[in-house]
Amino acid sequence: MNPKNDSIRFECTKCGTCCRTDSLLVTVTGRDIARLSTGLGLESNDVLKALDFYLISNAVLPKGLRDIPSFNTEKGQAYVAIKKMENGECVFLKDNLCMIHLIRPGVCMSFPFVFQSNGDDITWGLSALKDICPGLGSGPEVVIPDLRELAIILLEDLSLFNDFAEEWNTKQEKPTAIRLVETILSDPRFTV
Ligand code: SF4
Ligand code: SF4
Repeated sequence: MNPKNDSIRFECTKCGTCCRTDSLLVTVTGRDIARLSTGLGLESNDVLKALDFYLISNAVLPKGLRDIPSFNTEKGQAYVAIKKMENGECVFLKDNLCMIHLIRPGVCMSFPFVFQSNGDDITWGLSALKDICPGLGSGPEVVIPDLRELAIILLEDLSLFNDFAEEWNTKQEKPTAIRLVETILSDPRFTV
């Protein structure tokens, strides 16, 4: 759904609220994980330490438009996301700033916008958690072609990850979390 009012305004105030909101899962794709590994020079064990696995039976699912894949793990079917601390803050938030800004996950790049693809048709909307974002409605008008460009990249990324998830969930005989990270990092589709 593209909001009819295309003259929407947005400017991130760097308030950090989206990085501190417990109910906002910072879900990651294969390319997000590969970027984290390459950008920070982390091996799979250390990448795993930066991730959380939200079991489907326990997870409070985001209501956004993104079609997020889940994975078989040794503990059950789970969503993969950046780890949060007990207070709900992302582990990469320090002094209210993102320590991995240049390599942050796609959901962080797009928030408070969300995207969906129906064949060749790309639609965008606002996150179910849009009300936490003080930047929405202020600043310059959003440049729709720029938003579309970001959407194309992130939707392709998500599509690849969905394909990977289908393969993993049907073929992987020992679906452990560490093996999942290792497999993602060795998959050329996610090379960054
Ligand atoms: S909540 Fe909105 S304004 Fe605040 S850091 Fe996130 S995107 Fe920026
Ligand atoms: S990765 Fe960065 S932008 Fe994303 S939630 Fe964490 S601190 Fe915020």
